[in-house]
Amino acid sequence: MTRHDVLNPATEEVVKTIELADERAADEAIARAQKAFETWRNTDPSDRARLLRRFADRLDAANEELARLEVANAGHTIGNARWEAGNVRDLMEYSAGAPERLTGDQIPVPGGMNVTFHEPIGVVGVIVPWNFPMPILGWALGPALAAGNTVVAKPAELTPLTAMRIAELALEAGLPEGVFQVVPGSGAVVGERFTSHPAVRKVVFTGSTAVGKHIMARCSDQLKRVTLELGGKNANIVFADADLDAAAAAAPGGAFDNAGQDCCARSRILVQRSVLDEFLEKLEPAVRGFACGDPSDESTGMGPLISASHRDKVQEYIEGGDVLVRGTAPEGKGYWAAPTVLMSRGPEDRAFAEEVFGPVVSVLPFEDEAEAVRIANDTDYGLSGSIWTRDVGRAIRVSRGVESGNLSVNSHSSVRYWTPFGGFKQSGLGRELGPDAVKAFTETKNVFFAS
Ligand code: NAD
Repeated sequence: MTRHDVLNPATEEVVKTIELADERAADEAIARAQKAFETWRNTDPSDRARLLRRFADRLDAANEELARLEVANAGHTIGNARWEAGNVRDLMEYSAGAPERLTGDQIPVPGGMNVTFHEPIGVVGVIVPWNFPMPILGWALGPALAAGNTVVAKPAELTPLTAMRIAELALEAGLPEGVFQVVPGSGAVVGERFTSHPAVRKVVFTGSTAVGKHIMARCSDQLKRVTLELGGKNANIVFADADLDAAAAAAPGGAFDNAGQDCCARSRILVQRSVLDEFLEKLEPAVRGFACGDPSDESTGMGPLISASHRDKVQEYIEGGDVLVRGTAPEGKGYWAAPTVLMSRGPEDRAFAEEVFGPVVSVLPFEDEAEAVRIANDTDYGLSGSIWTRDVGRAIRVSRGVESGNLSVNSHSSVRYWTPFGGFKQSGLGRELGPDAVKAFTETKNVFFAS
């Protein structure tokens, strides 16, 4: 065990000192999860559902407490943090509908009866990043538990506090010991152990594409199931026929929400050249109006970045770019970066091509629909994106043409717990959320009964 200070990124003060687990502690948690699996998988589906609903009730009652903890630990705005805690509650409630409805098929065959079952996989290891500590945990946790699996989760070193509290709430709600555990620790120790321990049958990872590839390679040795949610470099395509007021007003939120530390951030704005000047004129006041400051203040649009090293990395992109608009940010203590719009020199510009994961958005003009789709797809990523147009035909063509898992037309909203989420290309593998989320935590078993 190693002691580890968890910092408040807005003040640089220590929020809490915790113990980071070593490999032995990770193994012990996995052993408890393995034991609990035998009971949990055989628990009456209606009881599993009831326990998930009780867990949702506890999460609901603790919404403000969890939200305040996230403001302190991750610097999220209080409004976002309340939504995030509510999202975990919603996931539990939604998933609670699954245990009694996890039906297989009866398929006609000669000489007997053929049925399929959706069996739980076993112990699921969930590796969570620091950008959305609560929702990303909840996205895997709800459906995994509903299907009868047990879960061992490793939060990011920088943001373990809400996950640790959520694990306590699960016990208070009556989930049996070992069904859901949180093991705070480093990626190199606890995360790696999920990929090597034979009792962990599935790994759900959200984070950088580089680590995601490493995890997939490690899991291949035992053919562990994996779901990967990785980076994004998402295009916000604004056509000349769009409602430019609406597109410009929404662009800062699409790029700077959560200080841009969002794999779905629309961090490339592609604007049809004939309306570039008009769009930029409208964008500037919207960016200046996006307040960066104290995350506990209800009127704040975005808080600090997660760490000093991350702020320095983001700063490099800003210094290397042509700044069009620079908003304001607090000075002094805290890892602040002001919302920034860069004019891209071309598609190969670093800030335009790479995932900055900060409040930095790059603008590039395009001539026509074909060029917009080509630029949008000229990336290894394929997670999300937006299309602004009043032409329905164009909206259909472009949304079918962009190689991304989650798109929105005349909006930046594309993540809901009841619709599927995941990436094309190097943005990920598999889908979370939506009606099929539970199936991703099952194996289909086919049984033939001779008559
Ligand atoms: P990361 O990928 O290093 O970490 C994500 C999680 O994986 C953390 O819990 C970490 O402890 C764990 N981890 C790290 N190495 C591991 C290993 N070898 N085996 C198992 N688990 C391991 O991401 P980061 O360092 O927190 O951020 C780096 C960059 O990744 C960011 O700047 C951003 O570009 C990207 N990122 C993307 C997302 C996303 O949602 N797609 C989230 C966080 C970070």
